[in-house]
Amino acid sequence: MTDVSVAAALARAAELTGLSDSPRADIELLLCEVLDRPRSFLFTWPDKTLDAAQQARFEQLLARRKQGEPVAHLLGYRDFWTLRLKVSPDTLIPRPDTETLVEQALERLPAGPARVADLGTGTGAVALALASERPQWQLVATDLHPGAVALARDNARSHQLTNVEILQGSWCVPLTGRFDMIVSNPPYIDPEDPHLQQGDVRFEPLTALTADDKGLADIRQIAEQALDHLCCGGWLLFEHGYDQGAAVRALLTGLGYARVQTVQDLGGNDRVTLG
Ligand code: GLN
Repeated sequence: MTDVSVAAALARAAELTGLSDSPRADIELLLCEVLDRPRSFLFTWPDKTLDAAQQARFEQLLARRKQGEPVAHLLGYRDFWTLRLKVSPDTLIPRPDTETLVEQALERLPAGPARVADLGTGTGAVALALASERPQWQLVATDLHPGAVALARDNARSHQLTNVEILQGSWCVPLTGRFDMIVSNPPYIDPEDPHLQQGDVRFEPLTALTADDKGLADIRQIAEQALDHLCCGGWLLFEHGYDQGAAVRALLTGLGYARVQTVQDLGGNDRVTLG
């Protein structure tokens, strides 16, 4: 086997053009994993060569990526907020867009004690980010799928977050008592959306992605159920699609929610609606 340098390995990003939205970032993540080094190493030591085992592992990971497998599944983790979270094919892979939901949730309540629920928690991303930022909050996260519940508990344990409880069940059903805030990143993609045939979403569970009624069915169900679980003056926050802001505002207003507003993500798209 001929020696392969870090720089030469990085140049293989070209092979992912058209197959990935982020060829360069993908290669960097795979290479960091293979070398067990931080990203800065790649730029400090471009001439460093991969040993035979590292080369073999790199080739194997790159081949799987070319077949479409998400980088997060290849590595077994994804960084979200300040946390490295385990991921599996049982749940959605946490996305940067969802940090907007975390930011909004943190802004809505003072830092003192509060009860906060996260519905359809998946990896636990939103609940765990909130639990890590607000040790005085009590988080309750729910998910219908036992695989997701196990994964979220595992993630809570590895970050030693003891102020979060993860319960199995549909949306608000496992909740008892009232909450100061309920947040959710539910499935919201229209089942007819052609975007589902491309890229990483093909490897994620459809139950975490799609909802009937043009993607709004689960948002409606949660908003109805939440009325019985929010404190007076409590907040409900949803992540949704870039083109669903007006529909979600109308839905919340129709159910009697007040102070309904939509917030944009870093890309300037409507992303979170609250009331
Ligand atoms: N924003 C994600 C996507 O478009 C979907 C997230 C979700 O359904 N909650 O791939």
